[in-house]
Amino acid sequence: MEIIKNNKGGQKLCYKGYCYTKKAKSAVSQRWECDQRGSQKCRAIATTDLELTVVKSVTEHTHAADMFKVSALKVREEIWSGLSGSRGTTGQIVVDKLAQQPAEIRVAAGTLETLKRTARKRKREDTPAEPKSASDIPIPLPEEYRKTLIFDNESAARILIFASEDGLRLLDNADTWFLDGTHSSGMTGCFYHLTQSTWRRIQSEGLQRLYREDSIVRHFCGMLDGLAFLPVADVKEGMRVLQESIPDGLESLVEYFDSTYVNGTYRMVMSDNRMKFRRTAPRFQPAVWNVHDSTMAGRERTNNVCEGWNNGFGKLVGHKNPSIWTAIKCIEGDAAMVEADVMRHARGQQSSKQKRKIRTAHQITLLTLCQQYSTGEKTIREFLKAIGYSIRL
Ligand SMILES: [Zn+2]
Repeated sequence: MEIIKNNKGGQKLCYKGYCYTKKAKSAVSQRWECDQRGSQKCRAIATTDLELTVVKSVTEHTHAADMFKVSALKVREEIWSGLSGSRGTTGQIVVDKLAQQPAEIRVAAGTLETLKRTARKRKREDTPAEPKSASDIPIPLPEEYRKTLIFDNESAARILIFASEDGLRLLDNADTWFLDGTHSSGMTGCFYHLTQSTWRRIQSEGLQRLYREDSIVRHFCGMLDGLAFLPVADVKEGMRVLQESIPDGLESLVEYFDSTYVNGTYRMVMSDNRMKFRRTAPRFQPAVWNVHDSTMAGRERTNNVCEGWNNGFGKLVGHKNPSIWTAIKCIEGDAAMVEADVMRHARGQQSSKQKRKIRTAHQITLLTLCQQYSTGEKTIREFLKAIGYSIRL
């Protein structure tokens, strides 16, 4: 005999190719009814002890036993329990699961259409409604999604922080933290996002064609982003040098870059009856996006790390705009994968990511240029010129 639990907490008894649903119990035994009561008009009854360890009696069935039914039931339960927080469509999950089974079990599990329909219904029932805005996210978060939640401000401007114990311990022991975020949210330390932001600006100003067709324009854009490789203290001087030779059409791009990343904006104000310039600091100070020190120290540039994580997480989620519930499940899943990587590392096994850490020729070029600038071998003009050819958007 075998007892199968479904994810709703119900139980089924499987015995010699027949399945039974749980009914009332007496002082000494548990009563079960054949689950074909409806379709086969079968009135068969089984009884077990109260601890569900042994079948005490079974009455006759109106239909033949199905030896694959137990396996099929298990497959169905596996499908249902795999639905919550899963990636891919419900149909894919059903098909993937069934494909692993022998033909007899596939047949016993039911038709694909019925399974898909039931799966979709189950998933709808199990997943909370998708909030229309941040203020619609339930307070508190449903239990199912709180497993790794460590902070919730429970207000309309919702902030949710997820972390695992192990993840926090790793952060605690690390001497470098790489931060990432979407650009619209403000803070980011990623050079990767600087180049992305420059590229978006080129697009929004309709300069893509000019960029594609004019190598001088491309080189100049490379020099703009290349400012990130100058020591922080020299970034303003670098910007001054670039402003001396702006290619036609890029004036407003340079102005945007200068006000957002380097010098900020100036505006005229009246003070003591005289016109004066007042400076507003750039939204992103050079120290935030600078990579000179990390390049010199031979540390992995943040863009690589963040880019890698972004790509990996994107693949894990499988959509560009996942539901908040899927996203939370994926954050949990991502943490679990990192834990596995850390364990492999502790055992001395190299992860595939580490193998790729060997410095590329491109990284060596950047390092060499930074060194040549530091020793005075290259002037700021020569440095920017060279680095402009080494950065691609
Ligand atoms: Zn029966």
